[in-house]
Amino acid sequence: MLIASYKDFSMAGWAWPHFHPVELACKCRSRGCRGEYWHDPKFIDALEALRGRVGRPLKINSGHRCGVRNVLVGGAPESRHRRIAADISLSGHDRHAFLNAAIDSGFTGIGRGRTFIHLDRRMSPATWTYKGADASWQI
Ligand SMILES: [Zn+2]
Repeated sequence: MLIASYKDFSMAGWAWPHFHPVELACKCRSRGCRGEYWHDPKFIDALEALRGRVGRPLKINSGHRCGVRNVLVGGAPESRHRRIAADISLSGHDRHAFLNAAIDSGFTGIGRGRTFIHLDRRMSPATWTYKGADASWQI
């Protein structure tokens, strides 16, 4: 569900203690939107499950992107970030444990970056490694 700004989203009934809509909203703030937000309860359920498994705070580098921002950051036109996906910082985390926890938490689109991991919940599972990130994932 698309909401023009996270500021307009009612927090009544918000059920996820470790996350706030602002963390998942578009980061434009001025150039393209007012903090566009895509609400997907199942996605936040999966984030909470992941947070529980990892046992540490998750820093979301990028969540929803409005059309303007998606172009500005060079995102694919059909990027999952146009609805909801999260690029989460791997700083301070064991990346392999984090990856396994993400799979166990129900994420099906998983992109392995050097400093972050991309997570979404797509119908057909897909995993990939971003350019320049291979070495960081070698065991
Ligand atoms: Zn925006």
